[in-house]
Amino acid sequence: MVARMEGPVGDRERRALRIRGVVQGVGFRPAIYRVADALGLAGFVQNDREGVWVEIEGGIAELDRFTGDLERCAPPASRIDCIETMVIEARRDHGFRIAESPAPVAGSHAAAAIPADLAPCEDCLRELGDPEDRRYRYPFINCTACGPRFTIVRDVPYDRSKTTMAPFAMCAACLREYGQPANRRFHAEPNACPACGPQVQLVAGGKVELEGDRAVIAAAAAIANGAIVAIKGAGGFVLAADATSEAAVMRLRQRKRRLHKPFAVMGRSLEHLEGIAALDDATRKIVCSPHRPIVLVPSLGVVAPAVAPGLADIGVYLPPTPLQHLLLADGPPLQVMTSGNVADEPIARTDAEAFERLDGIAFLFVIHDREIHTRADDSVVRSSSRGPIPIRRARGIVPESITLPVAGPPVLAVGGHERNTVCLVHGGQAVLSQHIGDLDHPESDTFFREAIAHLQELAGVEPEAIAHDLHPDYRSTRWALASHLPLVAVQHHHAHVASCLAEHGRSERVIGVAFDGTGLGDDAELWGGEILDADLGTSHRLGHLRAIALAGGEAAIREPWRLAAAALIDAGESLDLLPYVSERDRARRIRALLATSLPAPATGAGRWFDAVAALLGVGRDISYDGQAAAQLEALAAPMDASPFEIAISGADPFEIDLRPTICEIARELRQDTAAPILAARFHATVAFAILEACRRSALRTVALTGGCFQNRRLLEQTAALLEGNGYEVLVHRRVPPNDGGLALGQAAVASFRLAARSSSCV
Ligand code: ZN
Ligand code: ZN
Ligand code: FE
Repeated sequence: MVARMEGPVGDRERRALRIRGVVQGVGFRPAIYRVADALGLAGFVQNDREGVWVEIEGGIAELDRFTGDLERCAPPASRIDCIETMVIEARRDHGFRIAESPAPVAGSHAAAAIPADLAPCEDCLRELGDPEDRRYRYPFINCTACGPRFTIVRDVPYDRSKTTMAPFAMCAACLREYGQPANRRFHAEPNACPACGPQVQLVAGGKVELEGDRAVIAAAAAIANGAIVAIKGAGGFVLAADATSEAAVMRLRQRKRRLHKPFAVMGRSLEHLEGIAALDDATRKIVCSPHRPIVLVPSLGVVAPAVAPGLADIGVYLPPTPLQHLLLADGPPLQVMTSGNVADEPIARTDAEAFERLDGIAFLFVIHDREIHTRADDSVVRSSSRGPIPIRRARGIVPESITLPVAGPPVLAVGGHERNTVCLVHGGQAVLSQHIGDLDHPESDTFFREAIAHLQELAGVEPEAIAHDLHPDYRSTRWALASHLPLVAVQHHHAHVASCLAEHGRSERVIGVAFDGTGLGDDAELWGGEILDADLGTSHRLGHLRAIALAGGEAAIREPWRLAAAALIDAGESLDLLPYVSERDRARRIRALLATSLPAPATGAGRWFDAVAALLGVGRDISYDGQAAAQLEALAAPMDASPFEIAISGADPFEIDLRPTICEIARELRQDTAAPILAARFHATVAFAILEACRRSALRTVALTGGCFQNRRLLEQTAALLEGNGYEVLVHRRVPPNDGGLALGQAAVASFRLAARSSSCV
């Protein structure tokens, strides 16, 4: 649709195009230049605060072709959200040029101009492998369509001088490319070559052993020989090991003190990944996208069993940096690449940090002299028939902003306690930080503060209010309380629902199904199986799952058999179904624990999954959050299963009673029904319970959120069942359903409330 501000002059005219989306730092201007030049159009293109501004002048036929050609030729990392076109006064200029960006307005919203890190593009990979090219095997090759961005930026505007590339002066050849509008490296801020750019070193025992290509070749050979090698990746150090060697992977597990949590596998090529994982067209596309997330897909079971013990999925990805690309090309074609840290600490960022913290895990370090300014782990998504489910949002995605359906004053939301992220909103744009992690670690606290400072620097704004969780003991809450800024407290599950609404640009009332571990409720009880009537501003608890006793408190989360025992006792069943806990005194201890009202029970859906997992004999020995539930999902037979019985009682709030389910499972177990069938039926039961709960509301849109919806089977079944019954279903596509998305929800609720407050004052 072309808005006409002035009539055309004959068959020629001038048009202005306002293009919004991910259009800066991704090679968009050179692409426009090529399209306009090919069509013989005059005019210019420039970046500005809002995105890209184009003016084109020429014949009507060529002008009409421009948009279509542009959409076809847009760089893969770009995303066009909208193009507004209008006819403007002709200038009769000649030729097409890339114009300088207008100087940024002080205090402007500049964060949108910083793109995420992008994996090497096809053109750069071709040059990387071309012995005739001057960047043959150069680990820092990049262009406007690819390369590091977010992790090397210190400040805005996004110029080389404000990145960790500043110490490297471009050689004459690089400078020439940088200055030619038609060149792929025109204004590629991290542009570099072997003559002028960063260099690799191989360090062992604190000593530089090799430099340059020899360092890469030796590191790859060491990995092939079973060594664990620390590599300076895009957003921090990663640890590499041969994914086909059970011994190497086990060694990595022992040294990293990571008993069961799955590792992801990086492959030399898509073909290599096809050999270990079941990919379809949709997942292939995500694996090959310039964001290069780890994609959790069904495993073919051919890598070392220690890679992802007890799970049906495996995380696969392609190299996000040229350096990793070379290591995969020279070394084993399938390598475990895992964050360089011990247990759940943040990823090591500086060389010094890596030498200190990864000492004893790796003895070889591949380092280089380009500093990582900002940490970012690998991003993780899970494939599903409804599109990728975000699990962890970091490298390759952050700091992409999300447009909120409401505009308010600048707000900082500080997220939850585990899987923490923070979110800064300004001008209606929400920028969710990279995954920070579990705030229990002192190191995470530093990362948390760094992330807040970095977001504020990039945006050039200070928040006017802080949004936080209700839980007083979350470190994020304590930080908020100490901030001396106006506070907006947001209930945990309301924030989950709001995060789902916000990413869909919605603000109206929906049924929010928030199923997670636990979070603090409005009534100071532990919630986690919630059916809410919520919009962005308020929420009301319609109903919830029956609470399950956390027999032993925190211990119940680490030892799911305690939850199974509590569920059996609650349902009036005997404990003989838990042979491995049937020693009389243990059972007596559980009964004694349950007889006291402490610790308080929780309605957490995740805890019910844990309990059923333990009943079905999986998740006895667990070492990471959500492991029992993940193994229950993996156990479920691939079949359409009928739900067990449930009961719904009471009103305002109603209770979804799973005691009939537990009784049925107990009966089936006594009749030796196979556990995979029961696991499948339990998933069907939860989906069915959600449908029954939704039927108690007159609302027709349902938002599915909370960590339980990382469960592909639960998500697909619940969404299909609801849609089959006429509901509109909103699922997470841009932020994680788990607590990693919480900050976005908090920010959205706070924005909504503050906007409402200021408009009521007018
Ligand atoms: Zn490139
Ligand atoms: Zn150079
Ligand atoms: Fe949660």
